[in-house]
Amino acid sequence: MIELKTPAEIQRMHVAGRFVAEALSEVGRLADVGVNLLDLEHHVRGMIKQRGAESCYWDYAPSFGSGPFRNVTCLSVNDAVLHGLPHDYTLRDGDVLTVDLAVTVDGWSADSARTVVVGTAAEDDLRIIRATEEALEAAIEVARPGNRLGDISAAIGAVAGDYGYPVNTEFGGHGIGRTMHEDLHIPNKGRAGRGLKLRSGLTLALEPWFARTTDRIVFDPDGWTIRSADGSRTAHSEHTVAITEDGPLVLTRRESEGP
Ligand code: MG
Ligand code: MG
Repeated sequence: MIELKTPAEIQRMHVAGRFVAEALSEVGRLADVGVNLLDLEHHVRGMIKQRGAESCYWDYAPSFGSGPFRNVTCLSVNDAVLHGLPHDYTLRDGDVLTVDLAVTVDGWSADSARTVVVGTAAEDDLRIIRATEEALEAAIEVARPGNRLGDISAAIGAVAGDYGYPVNTEFGGHGIGRTMHEDLHIPNKGRAGRGLKLRSGLTLALEPWFARTTDRIVFDPDGWTIRSADGSRTAHSEHTVAITEDGPLVLTRRESEGP
């Protein structure tokens, strides 16, 4: 079932979204050479506790994972891109770190992810990060009443194509609201003009992610962390977006990204 949200409900999701944005900004500031992933995880746990928020990840047990997840962040390094299990790893110069975070505040959820380079950045890494950010902005731009779900997928796929990155369609965007995952799967490529007609009140997590040279993925033995099958580096950008009469409203926009 797809639940359309009222403007008041969207405002409540925006409260959660602002917190997620703040936490992702904070992790971006803290992520540095010599910092352990577990330090980042524990820092965000503290922020969530202080805010009186709830992690959407804690005890999450989807069909593909191995038992309940007992962390509040997904931290994916280099060729890892999705669902990275925080573990005892100290960040090194040039590492690419993806941070994904979803929380619920007063019953409403928001989900956002970003990729940053730790220390000295390689040009290829900056390029793929830029591609996911541009794909996300292109997807947001078409998230308007009257367009179709396929327009969002096509917008993401077109940017990937321009950059020459293959696109995996197993994991993509999703509906979001009272819980992190609601109905609607939004593949990161697709045909414009097809699929569900977008309506005001739809709230979606849009999340382009690419690996440089493959669309195939492999799972780590930890049962969570997903990597590019060929070990090539990856990036992931995600925002929670509400479709309104006035156009797309990004609920997880960070201050550093501008309006
Ligand atoms: Mg996410
Ligand atoms: Mg998501």
